[in-house]
Amino acid sequence: MWSEIIENDGWSGKIEDKKKDGTLVTIWLSISVVRDDNGEIINYIAIHTNLENIIKSQERIDFLAYHDSLTKLPNRISFEENLEHSLKFAHKHSEKLAILFIDLDRFKVINDSLGHHVGDELLKEVALRIKSVLHEVNTLSRVGGDEFIVILDNVDKNEQVSSLASSILETLSTPMEIHGHTLTTSASIGISLYPHDASDIVTLVKYADSAMYRAKELGKNRYNFFTQELSSDIDYRLEIEQELRNALKNDELYLNFQPQYTLKTGIVVSAEALVRWKSEKLGQVGPDKFIPVAEDSGLIIEIGEYVFRESCAFLKASNEAGHGLERIAINVSTQQFHQENIVAIFTSIVKEYGLDTKNVEIEITERYIMESTEGNISILDQLRESGFKISIDDFGTGYSSMSYLKKLPIDTIKIDKSFIDDLPDGANDVAITNAIIALSSSLNYHTVAEGIENQEQQDFLCENGCEIGQGYFFSRPLDRENFFIFMKSVQSRTKSETETYCI
Ligand code: C2E
Ligand code: CA
Ligand code: CA
Repeated sequence: MWSEIIENDGWSGKIEDKKKDGTLVTIWLSISVVRDDNGEIINYIAIHTNLENIIKSQERIDFLAYHDSLTKLPNRISFEENLEHSLKFAHKHSEKLAILFIDLDRFKVINDSLGHHVGDELLKEVALRIKSVLHEVNTLSRVGGDEFIVILDNVDKNEQVSSLASSILETLSTPMEIHGHTLTTSASIGISLYPHDASDIVTLVKYADSAMYRAKELGKNRYNFFTQELSSDIDYRLEIEQELRNALKNDELYLNFQPQYTLKTGIVVSAEALVRWKSEKLGQVGPDKFIPVAEDSGLIIEIGEYVFRESCAFLKASNEAGHGLERIAINVSTQQFHQENIVAIFTSIVKEYGLDTKNVEIEITERYIMESTEGNISILDQLRESGFKISIDDFGTGYSSMSYLKKLPIDTIKIDKSFIDDLPDGANDVAITNAIIALSSSLNYHTVAEGIENQEQQDFLCENGCEIGQGYFFSRPLDRENFFIFMKSVQSRTKSETETYCI
């Protein structure tokens, strides 16, 4: 400082100064030299600027850029920097590391039904709990709404990773008290390993993410390691997506129809439209495989419109053939609700075929409904106000709450096939099925049992007051021509036969 003052007539810099009470304070000090006419130094002027506030706000800006303001955890940017650092270290020392991608199950339901302030508190509590089972060196970051990632350095054995994942699931399983609500939550965890699965950030995260999705598919509240099989799944999905882009253009999609019949009489009241795809390159691909891809890629909008139109065309032709169907059931994904004017589009297609909206039942899976935003519910409301019937598909698998169910604009509940499978011997399924039938009729909804494969199941459902059935036992999904033939044979049954159809 002194040499610079003498050479340059001044100095400035950041220093720690001591206040009278002995505490240290960071200041910016500028010293200038004052000389007389002969150039002799006669004075020094020192200006002290207290930097504390500036430093505080700078620190806050830095903090916010790298942290999530709600949980105070490192954010995605910071996570990527940390992971890069960890990867370099692991590479240099030939160590292994793991990343655990944690996604809360059903967080949206809590957020939507109890409000964001409850959701926020829940996230904070989740962050605290996960931290509580980590060692100091493991970094936990919040990388998305309800997504967290743990970097586990220096992994020796995979068991270390599984045991950490189990601890996380366990600590989250104790109910939380938040704003007067007792909430239970759980998470699904996907794990990828360096260098076993991949060695770059993007791939490691992608793999952990797909392993997490598989954990959800396997029933949630569990962890799952990435496997090579999942990687070929990803490739297969990509291939499906590529091929699916041409499917409509090349006329590779078509519909099958499965009758829904009144269990007591055997009279067909409706048909469910089920989309089929015969790909030139991939062969026959099931909707369970390609619908999720269509949803993720946005192709579902185009496909959905095709299905809707073809279904209306089918009903029109069926009416003309005198089958007397009351309605056609069409599966609609809530992704289609992103399409602008979806209600107007559906309504105008219905009109185009000279049908009425009440002849069209829209099937939405319970899972979708429970994941739904208020926007989706409002579209359901609008569809119903326009006269469409609404049916909840796969009921019993998606954790509907009773109070939610009452608020929803619906006409029909479809009991999921998984409950029908073990009828009439599975005591649990008997209890659940009966409860759903009772619930549904008390709310004045229609009840459809799907996936009926044998006489015993059908008899049980009929005896226990289920109204409508659908399944291979009555008829497999059929193309239009075979559906028409089937209808002829059903219609030609004598009336007495129909009356005693069930039991
Ligand atoms: P879903 O809506 O629950 O459809 C019922 C599925 O169960 C159909 O499979 C049907 O063929 C099958 N099924 C019916 N009766 C029986 C039975 O007795 N036993 C057995 N084992 N299965 C039976 P599919 O056609 O493969 O469709 C699978 C899923 O794909 C559908 O489940 C639905 O979620 C989705 N999907 C099908 N078509 C469309 C569509 O046009 N749009 C949308 N968004 N999703 C569709
Ligand atoms: Ca369905
Ligand atoms: Ca279903």
